[in-house]
Amino acid sequence: MPYNELRKDYLLDRWVIIATERARRPTDFAKQKTEQAKTANCPLCVGNEHVTPPAVLVYLPSNGGIRKDHEQGDFRFHNWIIRNIPNLYPAFAPPKNPEDPPQILESANFGYAVGHHEVLIESPNHTDHPANAPLPQLVHVINAYKDRLDTLSQKPYVTYVQIFRNHGLDAGASLSHAHSQIITTPFIPTTVKAEREAAKTYHNQHGTCIFCDLIQQESQTQRLILDSKHFTVFAPYASVHPMEFWIIPKRHAPNFLSLTQEETEAFAWTLKTTMKALKDLLNDPPYNYGIHLAVNQDAHDYYHWHLEVYPKLTAWAGFEKSTGMYINTVTPETAAAELKKALNP
Ligand SMILES: [Zn+2]
Ligand SMILES: [Zn+2]
Ligand SMILES: [Zn+2]
Repeated sequence: MPYNELRKDYLLDRWVIIATERARRPTDFAKQKTEQAKTANCPLCVGNEHVTPPAVLVYLPSNGGIRKDHEQGDFRFHNWIIRNIPNLYPAFAPPKNPEDPPQILESANFGYAVGHHEVLIESPNHTDHPANAPLPQLVHVINAYKDRLDTLSQKPYVTYVQIFRNHGLDAGASLSHAHSQIITTPFIPTTVKAEREAAKTYHNQHGTCIFCDLIQQESQTQRLILDSKHFTVFAPYASVHPMEFWIIPKRHAPNFLSLTQEETEAFAWTLKTTMKALKDLLNDPPYNYGIHLAVNQDAHDYYHWHLEVYPKLTAWAGFEKSTGMYINTVTPETAAAELKKALNP
């Protein structure tokens, strides 16, 4: 019997068994039933703004463009395009006294979860998920990511800003209205830190950015899904999730604050095109995505922001939970081939 392949992540000390022997076709994971998105009583829908806290950022239509504002007290806007609110049950909460950053930095080590936890409502339309949202709406979403990253990363008690998205009940989305979440942490979370340190070591050894090198290298493999002017999308060599893929900008930058208008539109297009391929291929599967980035200048040379998409098609069980090692029954090469076929730009 031939052996399964054992692969290590490009950066993390993380191993995956690519189980070709019990390989499954990606379409085996396609959802049978389509969950009906509930819109009645959706707290994120237009008209129900009063059940949520005041928005810290809203995009409002203004002379064919956008005007930015926020809400206070009981006042709520109803004609918003994007609405960013504090999470009602936050994992992290702002310091009681914002004038007190040094003490708060100290206290981070003693376990106070100081920071922000926000819900970014991506559209007034309940079902405007990236796979179906109109491109201009997705551009607003990315601009709102940028605005919040910019504001939050300047706070003295914020060391990292994690922007992520849960889609589908099985992927942890308790609300089906199109939304992302933003959580800030007082230190760099473990996975991001490990990725960053490995990227730094690579830079010290080779003098280049590993992500820039990966774009070159993976473009030549069967793991490539999409290659456009500004972004490259591929299934990572040691994917731990079946159908996992990463979206990496071609221009080296530690975060997306410097995206030009053209790059922002290209990012929106790439996100929509690939998320739509995933949706079409697997009948709107649950997934999570997260953006890895660096906000501090010292990471500029060696860190390169990217978006990682983790479809939630299998459950991690005893082996995964007890070892931190994974079994993936869809080879990244198969995942890439199927996603590529499903692309319909
Ligand atoms: Zn809704
Ligand atoms: Zn780079
Ligand atoms: Zn990453």
